[in-house]
Amino acid sequence: MSMLEYTEFYHADEPVGVFDFYSSLTPDRKDFKKIFNRNKIYCPECRVCQLKLTQETISKTAFLSKMPGENNKHSDWCSHNHQTMKNSEAIKYYGSLSNEEILEKLEKTIYLLLSPKVTNNHKKTVPTYDNPTLGLIQTTNRKNEETMKALPKMSFYDPRIINVPENYYHIPFLLYGDVYLSAYEIIGSTGFSYNKIRVIDKNSKNQIMNLYRGKNIDKTREDVLYHVAVVVRYDYVSIRKEYKWELYNQTSIIYRSD
Ligand SMILES: [Zn+2]
Repeated sequence: MSMLEYTEFYHADEPVGVFDFYSSLTPDRKDFKKIFNRNKIYCPECRVCQLKLTQETISKTAFLSKMPGENNKHSDWCSHNHQTMKNSEAIKYYGSLSNEEILEKLEKTIYLLLSPKVTNNHKKTVPTYDNPTLGLIQTTNRKNEETMKALPKMSFYDPRIINVPENYYHIPFLLYGDVYLSAYEIIGSTGFSYNKIRVIDKNSKNQIMNLYRGKNIDKTREDVLYHVAVVVRYDYVSIRKEYKWELYNQTSIIYRSD
């Protein structure tokens, strides 16, 4: 069990915002090298705790971690204070939520992780939610003590979205990121129709995933970059004889544009 990894970082200088760590590592993104070299970078969620970059070596890929120091802490409500739920806990937790409760988690995800709004310094204002934490659950550990655990979550730009590790199969995941969306309808020969939505990489314009929407109609624009949060599962689709990402349920998707 590990603490939540950092797949994004926040920095306060121009251009202000939350940046995806993995796409920032591609060699042609020289502007990001400048960000790492010149600027302090922060936790993408609370924007208070300072992070550091460990450079890539021959045997290890680059990664972000908390900058050491007693005073360098996450905000109380930040999910990076907690360990991630185990797979079995995540399955049970999502199973206990109504569709409305899942949508509320997705709204919080967009607010906490993708909102570009900043105040006069890099710190965010106190979130407007009563309980701003991102899907923390209370469980009891072996010593029967109450502990909080955070929902497993990943950026759409995490390489594990494409090369999915086997221990991620069948587990509900919260995914989020700034992406393009392309909605379309498929009409079969018998006249039966359904809708799908493509999630598209903002940099490469490649498709990240293609999600079944059933009768839900998405009125998205292809030229607009959306903040998107979804709950998905990597499952075996018997009709296609392959594993693919599917929405946890047909409404577990939220998108917003600025
Ligand atoms: Zn934090």
